[in-house]
Amino acid sequence: MDIQTYQAKIKRVLITKEEIDEKIKEAAKYIDAIYDGRPILLVSILKGSFVFLADICRAVTVPAEIGFMCAKSYYEGTDSSGVVNITMDLSQKLDGYHVVIIEDIVDTGRTLSDIVKLLSTRNPLSLRVVTLLDKPSRRVVDFKADYSLFTIPDHFVIGYGLDCAEYYRTLPYIAEYAEPTPQ
Ligand code: 5GP
Repeated sequence: MDIQTYQAKIKRVLITKEEIDEKIKEAAKYIDAIYDGRPILLVSILKGSFVFLADICRAVTVPAEIGFMCAKSYYEGTDSSGVVNITMDLSQKLDGYHVVIIEDIVDTGRTLSDIVKLLSTRNPLSLRVVTLLDKPSRRVVDFKADYSLFTIPDHFVIGYGLDCAEYYRTLPYIAEYAEPTPQ
């Protein structure tokens, strides 16, 4: 993709870096208050949550371990496949851990609903979900995160870890993606 096309597809900034920074502090306070000094395992769902994880893990003050899982429900383009594949699993056994799943966005709810069911079978001490973004109008399964930093309308968004065909994860803000334009 050439740089002009790349830039043209960033339609408008929805959430600035400053707004994200403010909400990260609030989310970290929420986590600190719940666990009150008890160690936690932050489980990052890759790839979309890697930037969010990097910021939230440096904002919490409770002792935290980090774990990674790779789950994919979107492929090239903006359509949901509706299929959740766990392509990389956690290295930790979960019994003995207070687990906090760190996700980029809850859209249809399928991915997290499946991940929560799966991780619950591994007997964590507790299991909570913190999501950066929530698109409740798109839900097809009954799922609610324990904590959501931003509720957004039904736009396909990019930036701050979120991609379109693997680009745009590196933007420091969250933007609305412009529909594909003819080349
Ligand atoms: P769900 O299973 O809730 O429909 O989808 C969750 C996953 O879909 C997210 O982790 C993310 O990878 C992807 N997704 C959903 N909505 C968006 C969006 O607006 N932008 C991007 N880049 N990915 C999205």
